Amino acid sequence: MNAPLTERPPSNFDLDRIRAQFPILAEPVRGGRLAYLDNAATTQKPDAVLAAIDHYYRHQNSNVHRAVHDLAERATTAYEGARDRIARWFNTQREEIVFTRGTTEAINLVAYSFLRPRLQPGDEVLLTGMEHHSNIVPWQLVAKEKGAKIVAAPVLDDGSLDFDGWLARLNERTKFIAVVHISNSLGTVNPVEQMIAAARARGIPVLVDGAQSVAHLAVDFPALGADFFTCSAHKAYGPTGFGCLVAKREHLDAMPPWHGGGDMIRTVSFEESTWNEAPYRFEAGTPDMAGAVGFAAALDWIESVGLQAIAAHEHQLLVEGTALLAEVPGLRMIGTAKNKGGVMSFVMTAGHAQDIGTILDQYGVAVRTGHHCTMPLMTRFGVPATVRASLAVYNNRDDIEQLAMALRKASRLLA
Ligand code: PMP
Repeated sequence: MNAPLTERPPSNFDLDRIRAQFPILAEPVRGGRLAYLDNAATTQKPDAVLAAIDHYYRHQNSNVHRAVHDLAERATTAYEGARDRIARWFNTQREEIVFTRGTTEAINLVAYSFLRPRLQPGDEVLLTGMEHHSNIVPWQLVAKEKGAKIVAAPVLDDGSLDFDGWLARLNERTKFIAVVHISNSLGTVNPVEQMIAAARARGIPVLVDGAQSVAHLAVDFPALGADFFTCSAHKAYGPTGFGCLVAKREHLDAMPPWHGGGDMIRTVSFEESTWNEAPYRFEAGTPDMAGAVGFAAALDWIESVGLQAIAAHEHQLLVEGTALLAEVPGLRMIGTAKNKGGVMSFVMTAGHAQDIGTILDQYGVAVRTGHHCTMPLMTRFGVPATVRASLAVYNNRDDIEQLAMALRKASRLLA
C-alpha cells in the first residue's frame, strides 16, 4: 500500500516548485530564513487550499442543508462534495465519514457514543504507552464513570511497541483497543495491521488515531479493517479545527447521538425528538463548511504530488537529518524504531528542551519542545520533555542543516 521507506522520491519530484506553493515559507522570522520543522503540530497550507477556502467564502457561502436558495445549494454541494472527496481518499462510503473538529473530537465521539453504553465494571480498554493525551483521556473519562480500567502496553527502548507485551494484555475483559498509527512524539509507525488482525480474531473493536499518518501513509479504510479511524485536516496541509471520524457504517447506524442541536434531528417536540441518520446524527449545529472544502482541497493537493513521493522524500530527509544530528555533541535521539515517520525527537546534555527551543527560534528554526501531549511516554523515557523536529513534504536539506547549525550554537551557548 505504501512506498517502501528506502525508496527515493521520483525524478520529477520538484521540491522548489512545491515550496513555492506555500507562501508562509517565505515569511522572515527573527529577521531571517524560516526552517519550519513543527509539522507534527500543524502543517503549513499550500496556495490551492488557501484559494479553495477563499473561493468558498467569496462564491459559495451560506448555511448548509436548510434553505432552497442558490447560495445554500452551493454551500451544501461544496460541503457534501467534500465528504465524497474525503470518502474517496479512504476508499470508503460517504456515510462512513463524520465531520468533526479534528482527531480529538472524533475520539471523544467514539468514547461517548460507542464505548460508553457498552462498558461494564471490570472491562478494559487497551492502549499503548505512546498515545497522545487525546487518545487516553476520553477513554479514561468513560472508564472511570463505568468502573472500567485503562491498560497500556509497554514501549521498547527504541520507541517501538512491545508487540508481545501488547498481545499479552489482550484478554476477555478487553472491550476496546485504541492505538496511534504514527507516534507524534517519536515517529514510530505502529504495526496496526497485525494489531487489528489480532483484535478482530477476538471480536474487539479498534480505533486507529491517524492524526499523524494521514499526510504520510495511504489508508484504505476497508482494507485496514479498523472499526474507527480519526484524522485532523491541519496536519495534512488543510485548515485547523476540522477533521473526521471514519467509521464502519454498522457502528454509526447503531450509535446514539452525542451532541444535540440543529441538523442532527428528524423531528423535535418538547416531549421527544427523533434522530437523523448517520453521519448527520453526529453533526449537530452549523458545520465548518470552509473547513470541509479546505480539507478536500488539501487531499487533492497531496494526491497531485503523490503520497508515495511525499513519503519517500520525507524518509530521505529523516535519514539525512538523523545523520546530521548524530554529529551534534551531547544529543540523544529518543525514538529510533526501524519503521519510523519524519520525526526527530531528542534531548541534549547542554540544557533543557525549552532552552534549546528558545535558542533555535533565534536562528529561525521552528520546533516543538515539551511533552508533546504524551506525558506517560516522557515518563517511560525518564525525560520531562524533548525537542521535536518534524518533517513535511516542503522541508529541504537547508532546513535540516539550519537545525543542526543552530543546535551546535545552542550546545556551545549553554555549555
Ligand atoms: N493524536 C495525535 C497522535 C496527535 O499528534 C494529535 C495532535 N497533536 C492529536 C491526536 C490531536 O489532534 P487535534 O489536536 O487536531 O484534535
